[in-house]
Amino acid sequence: MQKTIAIVGAGLGGLTLARVLQAHGVAATVYEGEASATTRAQGGLLDIHEETGKVAIRTAGLYDEFLTLVRPGEDAKRVVDRHGTILFDMPADPGSARPEVDRGELRRLLIDSLAPGTIRWGHKLASIRHRPKGGYVLTFAEGSATRADIVIGADGAWSKVRPLLTPAEPVYSGTCFLETALTSGGQNHRASVTAIGSGTLMAVAPGKGIIAHRYADGHVRGYVALNKPETWMRSIDFGDPSAGLRQVADEFDGWSPLLTAFVTESDAEPWLRPIYALPVGLEWDRVPGVTLVGDAAHLMSPFAGEGANLAMYDGADLASELVEQLDTEAALTAYEERLFARSGDAADRSARNLEGFFGREAPQSVVTLFGRS
Ligand SMILES: Cc1cc2nc3c(=O)[nH]c(=O)nc-3n(C[C@H](O)[C@H](O)[C@H](O)COP(=O)(O)OP(=O)(O)OC[C@H]3O[C@@H](n4cnc5c(N)ncnc54)[C@H](O)[C@@H]3O)c2cc1C
Repeated sequence: MQKTIAIVGAGLGGLTLARVLQAHGVAATVYEGEASATTRAQGGLLDIHEETGKVAIRTAGLYDEFLTLVRPGEDAKRVVDRHGTILFDMPADPGSARPEVDRGELRRLLIDSLAPGTIRWGHKLASIRHRPKGGYVLTFAEGSATRADIVIGADGAWSKVRPLLTPAEPVYSGTCFLETALTSGGQNHRASVTAIGSGTLMAVAPGKGIIAHRYADGHVRGYVALNKPETWMRSIDFGDPSAGLRQVADEFDGWSPLLTAFVTESDAEPWLRPIYALPVGLEWDRVPGVTLVGDAAHLMSPFAGEGANLAMYDGADLASELVEQLDTEAALTAYEERLFARSGDAADRSARNLEGFFGREAPQSVVTLFGRS
């Protein structure tokens, strides 16, 4: 009898895992806490890497569909200082090895590729326990429970599955993000939008930055990044959104108004997002029938641009191993050996990039970083 597989979390990692299993005739159920595919905007662009994200998408048999999502011309990168002076300008490359796609569209592609009923929406895992006879009992917040022989935690940063394997918890990196947008296409802020170029603008200085991406249809999304203690975040009051945005913009005193307009004029729902990371090089001992993929296993800051790419790669790698090996434990052991090696490298790079991005040498450190890649 085929073992029952429960995947917790319908992010890019869990969905890729389910897709590759299904493509090989192996059934799995994905339990997702959110009520539907559209509960939360998935916004933001991802550049998909040759050695990780693209490999996963090919393994999932979705490469042709993926190519229709690529946003040509949006991979341009520009680095400026606080005055808006251009220090690095990389034009768009139509044949880029790292094409940009919208995260929501990529997630939708994966969701639509699964057999109907594979994803159980509105199933937020509340607790999980090992059964003495083997396998696990998963209990969901809305009261139902289910059993599974194999459980894969694809439930992101605050994974409820991870404590079965390790007591490690994410730690605040010292940098927080505020999401920003000019959804109307910035009609009133033409000069600011033009300053972006055709892709992503990064205005950086020690301890802070304004990042803005211009979509082909003209609208702009981005982030403000600030190195601040968690107590500072609690002092920002978005009860009056414009007043909250002005408080954040005050941190950019002396910066070009072309840049601060991305903060003060933002029409995104204002919320501060502290960037957390799991310890670099996190590993655990094998526990029968359970493992992790993606952020649940190796949450890292976004500064290596690898988190989503690795989540998909983990999903595809684990699924391939489970399909090929009759012995589940041998499959999980082989998967975890590779997982630890690749995620340790990426987490290390990401932590160093985060330090460099907003460190004392910024913006020159960012110019050097992009000049190298
Ligand atoms: C600002 C920012 C920018 C980024 N930019 C990039 C980039 O350019 N390139 C890149 O590769 N990566 C980027 N990342 C990282 C990337 O977003 C993550 O690494 C990636 O989304 C991880 O995918 P995942 O499937 O592991 O987890 P997630 O995407 O977090 O998905 C987890 C899923 O599990 C569900 N879930 C959580 N708890 C439960 C529960 N208890 N029960 C059931 N379901 C649950 C969640 O609702 C969610 O759907 C960025 C991250 C941030 C914060």
